[in-house]
Amino acid sequence: MVLDNLGGSLRNALKKIASANKIDKALVDEAVREIQRALLQADVNVKLVMQLSNTIKSRALDEKPAPGMNPREHVINIVYQELINLVGRGADIPLKKQNIMLVGLQGSGKTTTAAKLATFFQRKGLRTAVICADTFRAGAYDQLKALCEKQGIFFYGEKGNTDAPAVARNGLEATKKYDIRIVDTAGRHALEGDLIQEMKDIHAVVNADQKLLVMDAALGQQASEQAKAFNEAVNITGVIITKLDGTAKGGGALSAVAETKTSVAFIGVGETPADLERFEADRFISRMLGMGDIKTLIERAQEVQTEQEVDVESLMRGKFTLKDMYQQMEAMNKLGPLKQIMQMLPMGGLGFELSDKEYQMTKDRLDKYRVVMDSMTAAELDDPKIITASRIKRISQGSGASPDLVRELLKSHQAMQKALKGMRGGMGKMNMKRMMKRFNP
Ligand code: GDP
Repeated sequence: MVLDNLGGSLRNALKKIASANKIDKALVDEAVREIQRALLQADVNVKLVMQLSNTIKSRALDEKPAPGMNPREHVINIVYQELINLVGRGADIPLKKQNIMLVGLQGSGKTTTAAKLATFFQRKGLRTAVICADTFRAGAYDQLKALCEKQGIFFYGEKGNTDAPAVARNGLEATKKYDIRIVDTAGRHALEGDLIQEMKDIHAVVNADQKLLVMDAALGQQASEQAKAFNEAVNITGVIITKLDGTAKGGGALSAVAETKTSVAFIGVGETPADLERFEADRFISRMLGMGDIKTLIERAQEVQTEQEVDVESLMRGKFTLKDMYQQMEAMNKLGPLKQIMQMLPMGGLGFELSDKEYQMTKDRLDKYRVVMDSMTAAELDDPKIITASRIKRISQGSGASPDLVRELLKSHQAMQKALKGMRGGMGKMNMKRMMKRFNP
């Protein structure tokens, strides 16, 4: 499905931005290239992809982030907004008394959609009827009648009558008391002159408030030509894209909608009458990108970076107590599984990568250290140098950890402190500041 494939690739591009160390031209270019590739694979029109790329690039680098937004959120928000612009706002189909005419090629899913649409309005409490003006396809009458009857929807049709405009007229007469009247029209295998003429004739009778084009999501680039021709014939007011559940190529149909300056009204996502959704661009794009996940990712990356900043600050005070170490560990544990956090961190900021085994060891060891530290006094945590052999024995008994483990913890703290002091010695205050900036661009 287009939501899965395209969504997956776009999500990867956004994840890079979300966890980037620094937002600069190189990063934006790389992310835009990935977005381009993903959209082209989904059959979005090249021209639209180029327009979108240029807008994202210039906005990401020229516009200032809104107050309270960090540079990562800013760029992700621009991508999100531009994707919404690409698919356009959904068509506004009000829930009120109106006539709806469905047009489209054969096999596009028109008959099924007529029943789905009727089900949608019926469920909203509107009295709904369906009129079958598809007098061309032999099975259309029976198919639509059966679908409607199953859903308890009033059906009107005239089996054997091939005068489609006359059937539409009679149907409207017979369904006067209904709020929503959906007229299904005939399709053809291709856009032919007689189809266009028939559509115009039915249109003249129905005078529909909504003329909805039903289009198969798998059409790809051909969607554009089709949408243009139908639009010229009856001036469509919205598009229903069907079979979005079964294709990775839905970008063609979405582009066609953008090109003809119409908008998507509904999307079909399955074969049952309930598988029709009202199209809302922001919901569609958020779901495709997994915006909930991306937001969490940004928040977490932000928190981790703030923690790193505290670390550097305590260094500048020239002191790195066990408490500092403990605080860091607690913060890390609160943030979630260590491996996940490590992966979100800009690796440039950490300067090393851990193997799966090391992640596990580190996490295990952290858990054990925590237990040991819980048995220490505040004074010991603040100044581990005061921890004598007898104190080690007491801590060991209190925590249930071996005296060796307590010594190991003290040793690793010493080693870490020494390493950090060495770093501090090698850097002036200015450099430290620059380093902090790197953690939080
Ligand atoms: P028509 O010739 O345009 O009236 O097309 P139909 O309504 O007969 O649909 C053609 C086929 O597409 C049928 O097998 C439908 O079940 C199927 N179909 C229609 N809409 C959808 C959809 O949104 N998802 C899926 N998976 N199948 C659909």
